[in-house]
Amino acid sequence: MTPLANFLGLLVAIVSNLLMLPQIYRIYKDKAAKDVSRGMILIYIITQSLWIMYSLAASDYYLYVSSIVAIIIAISLGVFYWWYEIHQGGLFHCKRCGYTGTLAPGMTTCGCDDQRGK
Ligand SMILES: [Zn+2]
Repeated sequence: MTPLANFLGLLVAIVSNLLMLPQIYRIYKDKAAKDVSRGMILIYIITQSLWIMYSLAASDYYLYVSSIVAIIIAISLGVFYWWYEIHQGGLFHCKRCGYTGTLAPGMTTCGCDDQRGK
């Protein structure tokens, strides 16, 4: 491989793995994953599994490392989805006031932050 190909391989391995991090952060922040597609997570995990197999068959080091990191992120996304949407039944849990239940449409918190200042 040329130095340019090596550099681009490394760059794409790093950048492509950032793809799902904002989604994981959003689920964590909202304590909900109801707007995340279950099918997308499943296909993402399958895709990364196939990339690992391909990279091993093709002896592609960058792709292999990238795919290992990506499948860890993909499985993390699945675990976060499972925790908030299946295990907790999609309920919101407020760490501040202890409220557990559903939120009004469009709300991302229970509103105890807003009420405290009034
Ligand atoms: Zn609250």
